[in-house]
Amino acid sequence: MATSTIPAVPGQTTERLVELDKRASFHPYTQLAAHLKTGPTVIVSGEGVRVRDSHGREYIDAMAGLWCVNVGWGRTEIADAIARQARELAFFHSFSSMANEPAIALAARIADLAPDPIGKIFFGCTGSDANDTNVKLIWYYHNLIGKPRKKKLIARKRAYHGVTVASASLSGLPSMHRGFDLPLPQVLHVETPHHWSRARDGESEREFSARLAREVEETIEREGPDTVAAFFAEPVMGAGGVIPPPEGYFEAIVPVLRRHDVLFVVDEVICGFGRLGRWFGAQMYGLEPDLMTLAKGLTSGYQPLSASLVSERVWNVLLGAEKDGYFAHGFTYSAHPVCAAAALVNLDLIEQEDLVGNAERTGAFFQRELRAAVVDHPLVGEVRGLGLIAAVELVADKAGKTAFPLEQKVAPRVARIAWEEGLICRALPESNALSFSPPLVITEDDCRQVVARFARALERFERELGGSG
Ligand code: PLP
Repeated sequence: MATSTIPAVPGQTTERLVELDKRASFHPYTQLAAHLKTGPTVIVSGEGVRVRDSHGREYIDAMAGLWCVNVGWGRTEIADAIARQARELAFFHSFSSMANEPAIALAARIADLAPDPIGKIFFGCTGSDANDTNVKLIWYYHNLIGKPRKKKLIARKRAYHGVTVASASLSGLPSMHRGFDLPLPQVLHVETPHHWSRARDGESEREFSARLAREVEETIEREGPDTVAAFFAEPVMGAGGVIPPPEGYFEAIVPVLRRHDVLFVVDEVICGFGRLGRWFGAQMYGLEPDLMTLAKGLTSGYQPLSASLVSERVWNVLLGAEKDGYFAHGFTYSAHPVCAAAALVNLDLIEQEDLVGNAERTGAFFQRELRAAVVDHPLVGEVRGLGLIAAVELVADKAGKTAFPLEQKVAPRVARIAWEEGLICRALPESNALSFSPPLVITEDDCRQVVARFARALERFERELGGSG
């Protein structure tokens, strides 16, 4: 390893931090060569819905980090719980029937909160690993019930389920597959449930949903129902575009799954823990998952923790595996006590401060304000979302819904201007959409500021576009 002349200690000037970062850090989802020129932006602190960078500039983070800091920054209650637990028992594994107090309490609490028929909770560290666990559980389940050919997985184009080998395969964004030899051959992708961009002329939401359900059924029948194991869906698609399901979508899809004995996996990594104004998206849309995926809002990002939730139906079959010895899957850090301690206090805060109710009420206000401010803008094709998740889709031509070529990078350019206006929103991958997913503690006044800053950014971008022809 090259020796550094810069001591790697905290408290450096921004210039030194930038130099150090460029020397050794490998950033996720980053343009690697460009990063070596521009360097990082260093975030140093946060309070409520605001974060501060190493130059002392403050931003409203309307993305809650990466859709995850539901209770906002600076919650000393969680920090104290983490410190207490680290002093008491920093780690113990949960293999071979070992347990720790916070993880026991947390599993019981999630089981109470989660929609029926969820019964058991398996902990991991990230949304990606929880989805990989779910894939393994699905394959294991079908082996156990004597249907070993049932291994194919259906997900949607533009879905986001994570980046590990199985979860990236389930994700439906081409850049996550290209160059990585993915998706796995077992994974099939069906149409994105986005009525605005995918419906045929004159097709109602219900007709569109019925057509998408037929596509799922035709896919199952074409592949052979005895080969199709599970269907994965986010209640509201997040990173792929913030796409709420069109009317009648799940109502049409679920009977198809049941008819062909295809397990239903609901990925709640973004929707869970209040984002939509309900505890879970499954409750919003009346879903009964066979498996569920949780992460992000489970700890509000204060510690890395995820969970695979298993229904009684699946659990009862897994019990039958005992004749083979033990369940041979688990992470060193499954049911990590410090992460569980953080999650417990996070859930206390969500309950005590009625943050789910706030997401519903303030979310409705935010959705109204955002639409009122930008829906008529000539560059805005659609404003969509519910609760405290939203997206604005930019278009080159409003009437014809003509998309900007992605090479023009319009969404990242607007995000950059918003940044200069003191607002963090997110340019979604392979799209012209920008998203909002603020901490659930956001107030109406903060929402007004988010909307005003975004509207200013849009105006500035329009002038920039006009100026450059
Ligand atoms: N599932 C969904 C719906 C997500 O939005 C994400 C991340 O954004 C993941 C899974 C993967 O989670 P992680 O980044 O923690 O691996």
